[in-house]
Amino acid sequence: MSRPIIFVDFDRTLFQTDALFPLLWDTVGELYPQADIQTAKNEVGKWYEIIEGDYKHYLFPQHLLHVTGANFDQAEPLLLERLSKHDFTYPDVGVINHWPAKGYDVRILTFGGEPFQKFKLKLTPQFIEPRDIILEPKGTFLAHHYPDAAGFMVDDKRNPGMPATIKEVWLNRQGKTAEDAIITISSLEQLEEFL
Ligand SMILES: [Mg+2]
Repeated sequence: MSRPIIFVDFDRTLFQTDALFPLLWDTVGELYPQADIQTAKNEVGKWYEIIEGDYKHYLFPQHLLHVTGANFDQAEPLLLERLSKHDFTYPDVGVINHWPAKGYDVRILTFGGEPFQKFKLKLTPQFIEPRDIILEPKGTFLAHHYPDAAGFMVDDKRNPGMPATIKEVWLNRQGKTAEDAIITISSLEQLEEFL
């Protein structure tokens, strides 16, 4: 039998996405001084694509092109170079390195457009875990692509419709607990008691 898997969400689970956005746009402003960065920051919410329900993702490459006229491919190396001095991970992420020794494979499962997700992953080179970048609900994806997998899905968002063999774990860093009977944790370290 194959090892159980802990699937781990990326944005707001491992990566402080909300800390990136202002720094990202400030950096765009350094590279493209003619751009109206304040307006761009205010309009981030207009550049989300909704796929289904709560599944939406930020179209940063399109927003960047609109604001600066630059293609993301051109800008990416310059943005990475300037942003790589920042650590956008949460302080507790190192714990995922302990999970393989407890018998689990770890995979990053992240929702969003591939270029921007890969960009954020390049800012966190310490994560060497295999990853899936998807644009569909996680439960649907797991049922289709990992039909035999058992384990956990750790996410800062709720994931209705998980396959029965994959336990939903809700990471709520504010300490809220779910009203239904799923595992709720307020830090990644708390998952250890369930492994
Ligand atoms: Mg998330």
